[in-house]
Amino acid sequence: MFENTVFGRLDQKLQHAIKDAGYTTPTPIQEKAIPYLLDGRDLIGCAQTGTGKTAAFMLPILNHLVRVRRPRHIGHPRALVLSPTRELAVQTAENVKRYSKYAQLPFACLIGGVSQYGQVKDIKKGAETVVACPGRLIDLMNQGILYLDQVECFVLDEADRMLDMGFLPDIRRIISKLPKSRQSLFFSATMPPPVLKLAGELVHDPASVTISPETPTVEKINQKVMFVAKSQKDALLAHLLEQHPEWNRVIVFTKMRHGADRVVKKLSRTGVACAAIHSDKTQGQRTRALEGFRRGDVRVLVATDIASRGIDVPDVSCVVNMELPLETESYVHRIGRTARAGESGAAISFVTHEERGQLKAIERLIRKSIPVDRDHPFEAQPDLPPPAWVAPMRGGQNNKGGAHGPHGKRRRKSFIGRRQVDFGQKRGGHK
Ligand code: AMP
Repeated sequence: MFENTVFGRLDQKLQHAIKDAGYTTPTPIQEKAIPYLLDGRDLIGCAQTGTGKTAAFMLPILNHLVRVRRPRHIGHPRALVLSPTRELAVQTAENVKRYSKYAQLPFACLIGGVSQYGQVKDIKKGAETVVACPGRLIDLMNQGILYLDQVECFVLDEADRMLDMGFLPDIRRIISKLPKSRQSLFFSATMPPPVLKLAGELVHDPASVTISPETPTVEKINQKVMFVAKSQKDALLAHLLEQHPEWNRVIVFTKMRHGADRVVKKLSRTGVACAAIHSDKTQGQRTRALEGFRRGDVRVLVATDIASRGIDVPDVSCVVNMELPLETESYVHRIGRTARAGESGAAISFVTHEERGQLKAIERLIRKSIPVDRDHPFEAQPDLPPPAWVAPMRGGQNNKGGAHGPHGKRRRKSFIGRRQVDFGQKRGGHK
């Protein structure tokens, strides 16, 4: 079926499932990683989500489980994938389900925030693959429901995020329960020294594969910067959504959870169907928001960085950064939510005077300067510090044009102007 690609080396049952998924050619990471993994090598993969990374590790693992059958030992899985967030774990498990549909390999997805009942049931049914977040996994191990002594393939996914989220002690504990002889796969979007140190503890004589942020996915994204005062960001977002009715699925990133809730509140008032996902939301709320977004009922999904990792939704028209992320690498993660698997997409960042340093750092990371789009009515002058008298004023906008804006437009006359007044009502903007 896939004679001329690495997919051709996989079991026929998996090839059928790949065909059903609509994949015709492997992505670069699949092309590079799958041969090493089929040879049983350990691997360090430096790649972001959106590159086809999940199939790159899951297909060879499932291939091993299909070809090397062993009697099932309830509660003793043969493959373990650790994910930092519930969303990512759910999506990885969905991939397992999709790829193993002809191979009949039982699996379990172990995440917190929901009852363990169904998860324990899946384990008792003889799950051979377990995709888990560290907390729930350790919980079930402590209860004597799950044991890791027969794990043959272990994947640590998004290791950098795991460390950011403080999972290192949990990871060490989990690794200590794995058998010494196993295949270990280590994936991370970035490789700062603490991540490399952890990789060193985990893998043995690894092959390494790097898919740099500049490669296809990110290059296809039409990136833009819009300079705007903090107090005008909500108005600018509402303006763009109105100007672009063709944007069916938009992901808006905020730095803080309460910022995400605030955006949802304000957009809802203008009649835009939107929902927030962040770590204060229950698992049910997060799942409902994501499903609504996937179906197209929710037009705007507002997310914080931590929640963003698991968002794998095709046809995202645009990603909007309300604020630039503090960690420059997160920028690449965020904008990677659009242009999934080779499609093209757009990413717009709202940048204030204070964020110029972060913008420079991001441009250094992606090794290109992001074009500035000044064609909007909320343009703020980026190059001059805001005069002291501007900040406390209503709206706090720093642009030369005053009420007329830099392009001489009278905002009050327009619909956008009305909205701007709505958003600008609070003195000093919002926190
Ligand atoms: P991931 O990086 O694993 O999150 O994958 C990103 C998206 O790419 C998912 O929606 C996958 O279903 C899709 N995908 C993975 N491999 C391929 C492929 N070879 N061809 C087309 N789409 C793919």
